[in-house]
Amino acid sequence: MLVSGYADDRPGRDADEYRERCVRDFPADFGDVATNAEPAGEVATYHQADSRRRDFHTLRRFPARLVAAGDAVASFNPVYGQGMTSAMLHASCLSEYLCGEPDLAKPALSYFKDVKVVVDAAWQVSTMADLALPHVDGPYPRGYRAIQWASGLIFKASMRDRKVNLRLGEVTTMLAHPSSLTSPGFLLRALAAGARA
Ligand SMILES: Cc1cc2nc3c(=O)[nH]c(=O)nc-3n(C[C@H](O)[C@H](O)[C@H](O)COP(=O)(O)OP(=O)(O)OC[C@H]3O[C@@H](n4cnc5c(N)ncnc54)[C@H](O)[C@@H]3O)c2cc1C
Repeated sequence: MLVSGYADDRPGRDADEYRERCVRDFPADFGDVATNAEPAGEVATYHQADSRRRDFHTLRRFPARLVAAGDAVASFNPVYGQGMTSAMLHASCLSEYLCGEPDLAKPALSYFKDVKVVVDAAWQVSTMADLALPHVDGPYPRGYRAIQWASGLIFKASMRDRKVNLRLGEVTTMLAHPSSLTSPGFLLRALAAGARA
């Protein structure tokens, strides 16, 4: 089980503090597990200062028969649980590239172009959520306020409407692209559910 904090709120290695946080910050079941179950090991801490992406698709020169995948391409705030799924999707891009019988004497540019689609989607979801944190002060992308308004609406509606909840879950677990949340029909459904709430 993972507890997280931002800025000066840093979970430490102390087992009692870990249990306290599980009781205080999560629904009761999690606190019960942390209090009553036997720990599998010591509490381990991990600090992540930034999300980082390397845009290989913009390179003009790159060696043939060499690709990068997973965190070597982009790493995100781990609380959103995107890294392993991203790495799997990069592997899927590589499979697609190799099945297309490419000229292996040339750089794998079409692979990196496909990887960009995966990175852009994950980046959009995690950086938008990070920008909403109280200690973060930008820089905010163009249209940020509209996106924040729409996200708030969709999250609120997802508590009332099963279809909105399912679609949002598909996007946060990377089964669907974030653009699937922006179709007019979906936004109208979210608006209606939000109004009912
Ligand atoms: C605390 C935490 C929680 C996370 N939770 C989630 C989650 O819930 N869901 C999720 O999807 N993702 C999560 N992630 C992200 C996920 O772990 C990574 O995105 C994913 O492991 C990246 O896979 P990778 O193969 O690119 O890199 P890694 O898993 O880091 O693998 C790289 C490997 O290369 C080895 N290596 C490094 N340098 C060398 C070298 N010079 N020679 C040989 N070997 C080398 C390393 O030892 C390592 O085994 C979390 C990350 C952290 C830190």
